[in-house]
Amino acid sequence: MGRTRLTPSSSFIQELTSMPGGELIEKCVACGVCTASCAVASGSQYNPRQVMQKILVGARERVLESEQPWLCKTCHLCEDTCQYGVKLADVFKVVRKLAIREGIVPIAFQQAAQTILTDGWLMKEAYSDFIADERKELGLSSRLSQNKRYTRDVKSKYFDTGG
Ligand code: SF4
Ligand code: SF4
Repeated sequence: MGRTRLTPSSSFIQELTSMPGGELIEKCVACGVCTASCAVASGSQYNPRQVMQKILVGARERVLESEQPWLCKTCHLCEDTCQYGVKLADVFKVVRKLAIREGIVPIAFQQAAQTILTDGWLMKEAYSDFIADERKELGLSSRLSQNKRYTRDVKSKYFDTGG
């Protein structure tokens, strides 16, 4: 008995392949080699192969709601091992863009972005006197500074701050 061949959802595939970075999606054979080299593969419900598989079968909602594209640290290790030339980091960038457009960014990543925009860095709450003392003992600077100018420039370029 032959295997059932999955038919990609042409509309979702077309949507992604029409965006810069998504062009090579259809080359994926869902082999899973990329997942073996990905340090964050176990950090979300779907690993890289599973996300690719869901893209190929047109599971649009599941893909856009997945945390994996947000966990991707664009190290490109998966691309070194993929035998089919799929640029996974680019694919995940395209998925993130689409998710942002639809307003479905995972809450943890929204909060992280908000914290950076408010405090200028992610560590303000975690950086306690204890850590400052530890750093001092290790001969490291205890005054970790934040780049306020960078934060201000990002806000004014990408966000409507009402100012
Ligand atoms: S991206 Fe490449 S390595 Fe990963 S599942 Fe697809 S074909 Fe395999
Ligand atoms: S580029 Fe992203 S998906 Fe690929 S190995 Fe690195 S973290 Fe994993």
